[in-house]
Amino acid sequence: SRKPIIAGNWKMNKTLAEAKAFAEAVKGKAPSADLVETVIGSPALFLAPLAEILNGDVIEVAAQNAYFENAGAFTGENSPAAIADLGIKYIIIGHSERREYFHETDEDINKKAKAIIANGVTPIICCGETLETYEAGQTAQWVESQITAALKDLTPEQVSNLVIAYEPIWAIGTGKSADANTADETCGVVRNTVEKLYGKTVSDAVRIQYGGSVKPENVAEYMSKENVDGALVGGASLEAESFLALLDFVN
Ligand code: 13P
Repeated sequence: SRKPIIAGNWKMNKTLAEAKAFAEAVKGKAPSADLVETVIGSPALFLAPLAEILNGDVIEVAAQNAYFENAGAFTGENSPAAIADLGIKYIIIGHSERREYFHETDEDINKKAKAIIANGVTPIICCGETLETYEAGQTAQWVESQITAALKDLTPEQVSNLVIAYEPIWAIGTGKSADANTADETCGVVRNTVEKLYGKTVSDAVRIQYGGSVKPENVAEYMSKENVDGALVGGASLEAESFLALLDFVN
């Protein structure tokens, strides 16, 4: 009964012309929003033109980050209020690349989640372990700790409406995807963590995506798993044809 959600994450790719051409190419082509929610995660620069081109379409646009204040002297940052004002419905936060290269902490991610929710936007909160942690058998503890910190002081209703993305760092951009059972197991750890903190009604409602080398050829297998409600897709979301093919599992 959880609605699937497939989100592309373009990361720092495309020019304005390329972003617009992609939106024109996919417009009107995604399945009904009753079957699957379809989201494009764009660099902040292209949010406004994408939202305009896809206005009225089933495809939603997501930002890849936002600051935790709505306005002020924070040079170079993007306001969640200004993003919300564009009609953007989702903001990805806590991606492993932001944690690693831009030193985002669990506390920052919690502050961002609160600020985003306060603006009526849904955060897609990312978690995931390094290869070292995976090989040490510490994945469950790691993910539980990241999720517990990210959700601190959120209400049950807020958590019910969230999207959480489990992305093992060793599977991102490596072509070495986690097998579907491993993805399901760790998405299950995320769900159990939510259940421990907020109870079963909330954990049954929260949507959990798998991310890491998802492509049209393997997306259906992930989507067949009990605890996997969607995918967060990097490389395979960059071309319109491949992006649309990620949605074929609904047929
Ligand atoms: P890839 O799909 O390119 O492995 O990237 C995954 C990712 O990081 C999505 O946020």
